[in-house]
Amino acid sequence: MIGGSMSVRVRFAPSPTGFLHLGGARTALFNWLFARQRGGIFILRIEDTDEVRSTDEAVQAIIHGLHWLGMDWDEGPDYRELPTAGILEFKRRPESKELEIKDKGKYGPYFQMKRLDLYKKYAERLIQSGRAYRCYCLLEQLEEMRKKALEEKRPPKYDGRCRNLTPEEEERYRKEGRKAVIRFKTPREGVTEFEDIVRGKVSFENKLLDDFVMLKSNGTPTYNFAVVVDDREMEISHVIRGDDHISNTPRQILLYEALGWEKPLFAHIPMILGSDGSRLSKRHGATSLNYYEEQGYLPQALMNYLALLGWATEDSQQIFTRGELITKFSLERCAKSAAIFDPQKLLWMNGEYIRKMKPDEFWNQLSKPFLSPFIMAVLKEISVEAKEDEEFQEILHKVKIAISLEQEKIKLLKDIPYLIKYMLKEDLENKDYEDDAKDKVLKVSGVKQILFDCRDRLARLEDFSEEKIEKEIRNYTQESSRKTSEVFHPIRVAVSGRTRGPGLFALLSFLGKERVLKRIDYTIRNYL
Ligand code: GLU
Ligand code: ZN
Repeated sequence: MIGGSMSVRVRFAPSPTGFLHLGGARTALFNWLFARQRGGIFILRIEDTDEVRSTDEAVQAIIHGLHWLGMDWDEGPDYRELPTAGILEFKRRPESKELEIKDKGKYGPYFQMKRLDLYKKYAERLIQSGRAYRCYCLLEQLEEMRKKALEEKRPPKYDGRCRNLTPEEEERYRKEGRKAVIRFKTPREGVTEFEDIVRGKVSFENKLLDDFVMLKSNGTPTYNFAVVVDDREMEISHVIRGDDHISNTPRQILLYEALGWEKPLFAHIPMILGSDGSRLSKRHGATSLNYYEEQGYLPQALMNYLALLGWATEDSQQIFTRGELITKFSLERCAKSAAIFDPQKLLWMNGEYIRKMKPDEFWNQLSKPFLSPFIMAVLKEISVEAKEDEEFQEILHKVKIAISLEQEKIKLLKDIPYLIKYMLKEDLENKDYEDDAKDKVLKVSGVKQILFDCRDRLARLEDFSEEKIEKEIRNYTQESSRKTSEVFHPIRVAVSGRTRGPGLFALLSFLGKERVLKRIDYTIRNYL
């Protein structure tokens, strides 16, 4: 195992310029799995040096997304819920404004904009040692350089003209009021190489790199510089990130070497592509994690799916518990080539997870510690307000049972309100009866008689249990020499308005005698 004995400290370092997307979540996951497997430390660091595009909302979205997926971090910004008196089981999820962000961990601050002094210190040190220099070039000069390079068909890069300014020249520029950036003195010859855990040996020719900016004139660092300073200061052992960064790595390695620092190990994990082979983007459907939460994917199903984007076990296992992911994950088994995002497979996996959960487990996930938005939506459908009384607890209990009756068929949590609302309403109205159900099932000769007869028999049942109902209806079917479907379908449509749903007898028993009879009467009166 590479780096087997070293203590593991890894980080997820998003730029808070938008929602957490699937690619970011996958990178976070690989870091997290690796840390948890090795008993290491997982750090969240916010790379917010793009002052224009970074927002607090994005930081919150990232934190929320990681929490939701079930990844905990040992160091970094985190939010704590403000204490609320006596949180009840059915309380709503707290709004984000009720949350407050605080840092945890000894290597903070974990926001780059709060670490500007550090970047300045090390930039000065590189100037002192002759590995970096101040560049006073004006925008127009840089633009000219670019144009000239393009004309001469050279890759545009800074020509290094400020490398050897005399103190007098610098003084003159400063007096003119020019602001300086600090550039790294990239070696003009040689190659920079590293051994990537996923990609193997990677090498870049130094002459293709330029004297990149480390520190901008306003004192904010560029990505390549800040990331090196922070990875070093935070004692990062393994840098695990998307391979879109692989061309940045030689610059970072040169910085480590110039600063005399030991390098971390690198693992560049493959990009995620859409089914058409282009980089995953909005065109391939939703890419933000938020969307998957809102649609009602289970976080554990999404975690499982993300783990398989760029990693697989030898035997191509598909479904993993969280514990199995932690023990089986390995950077060495990550793919070199891109992973393809397949929304159909994700949907299938979500259904698998829901189907396999015990009803109690499923209910707990939907209702604890807060009622999920999906349960809130059910309550809204049936016009019930979340309250703190016994009656409300009884309603919740009914919701729980209704869900368990439909659980096998649920693919997305957002479908729950539609799937179960008819089971919870007192009366059905015309709009609850689907046209298809009315046309294909009720408009068949003999249905009226069947419903009359069954109504009679059900009305006489004292014990409205699933078993008793089944016996009664089956007897009727036999005695009247009809096919089961001939009898079962109209009953289902009469009590639900639909052709599909949970097992008929369980459904009837759940609805209770009174509602069943009312609904059959309603059907006979209105549709037959
Ligand atoms: N802020 C960088 C990004 O979001 C971090 C890259 C890295 O992990 O080094 O892409
Ligand atoms: Zn210059």
